[in-house]
Amino acid sequence: MEHPENSEEYKGLVVNRGVEQPSIVNPYLKRGKFRHRQMSVSDYVEGILKGDVTVLGQAVTLVESTHPAHQIVAQEVIEKCLPYSGNSVRIGISGVPGAGKSTSIDAFGVHVLEEYGGKLAVLAIDPSSERSKGSILGDKTRMEKLSVHPDSFIRPSPSAGSLGGVARKTRESIILCEAAGFDKIFVETVGVGQSETACHSMVDFFLLIQLAGTGDELQGIKRGIIEMADGIVINKCDGNNVDKCQLAATQFRNALHLFPAPDSGWTPQVLTYSGFYNLGVKAVWDMVFKYFDFVKNNGYFELRRNEQAKYWMYESINEQLRNSFFQNDLISSRLSIAENMVLSGQKTSFVAAKDLLDTYFSLMKESR
Ligand code: GDP
Repeated sequence: MEHPENSEEYKGLVVNRGVEQPSIVNPYLKRGKFRHRQMSVSDYVEGILKGDVTVLGQAVTLVESTHPAHQIVAQEVIEKCLPYSGNSVRIGISGVPGAGKSTSIDAFGVHVLEEYGGKLAVLAIDPSSERSKGSILGDKTRMEKLSVHPDSFIRPSPSAGSLGGVARKTRESIILCEAAGFDKIFVETVGVGQSETACHSMVDFFLLIQLAGTGDELQGIKRGIIEMADGIVINKCDGNNVDKCQLAATQFRNALHLFPAPDSGWTPQVLTYSGFYNLGVKAVWDMVFKYFDFVKNNGYFELRRNEQAKYWMYESINEQLRNSFFQNDLISSRLSIAENMVLSGQKTSFVAAKDLLDTYFSLMKESR
């Protein structure tokens, strides 16, 4: 095509014709030929059962995806892996940011693998985390020794979302990891809010990392969190901090006496250690595995898992109902109208909710 810029009007400006493009630059490169083959459900399952961590990683990504097509495949993969799961010990590790979780998990993980063998997966529940902020790299460098250990698999938290959603994804990832032969699972969680409850609902042992502070450690720590703990460990018991840590441990032990005895029949223990200097790590894990012997003997291990399975069934129903409601086009188009009516006092919250639910239920009826 002749360029209009070459007309007499724009004298002095010459635009060359472009060279003709061949229809295909590399005749050997056929379109689509090198595209990755989509993995099927059985590809995933086979890879996972073989213990292939690359496939395991891809399957976890699928579980975490919000894409409906991915979710369908993910659910099938989980279902097929379910019979091979469960054969593990799951340990929740919680503590406020800065408590030393990553440093400790690095030391704990290496210790557990050396002392007890097997394979360890480290997962996380942190609804505030955003994958895009580079937490993958963060997690690799946070756990230096463990991340290069051949028997470990480390995954950062599913990216930000509702706590329920993030927790479900972590729980489903546990199933995949177990099917891939990981017989020790750590679930790390940030001890700042509801995440502990979610974490507690999927682990066999809940370990709370604390720091010695000003002498009134127990202030500011929610009662409920202490009640959940099967073990409390006070980190950074090194250097000048040893006395303070011992004091904090005594205070925790005294405080625990005031709590009702847990259903497990196990008395939560309080220990001090240093993750950074690797001091007292063995005692912490002797305690954790002593707990497992104890609850496997008295039947509580099974009981707790069954309770958790029941809890997750209801959680799953709740989540799916909620998603179905809020993702419905008509409902979402009416939500902000209803919200405004409530705010301007035209409708009470109860009536607005009832109207929306009525609309939803009649839509469901029609679609049957
Ligand atoms: P997280 O936020 O809970 O994951 O905590 P980190 O593992 O990132 O640790 C926070 C800070 O505490 C880092 O500067 C660590 O080096 C330091 N730290 C962790 N464990 C210990 C310990 O056992 N002793 C001492 N002195 N410092 C520690």
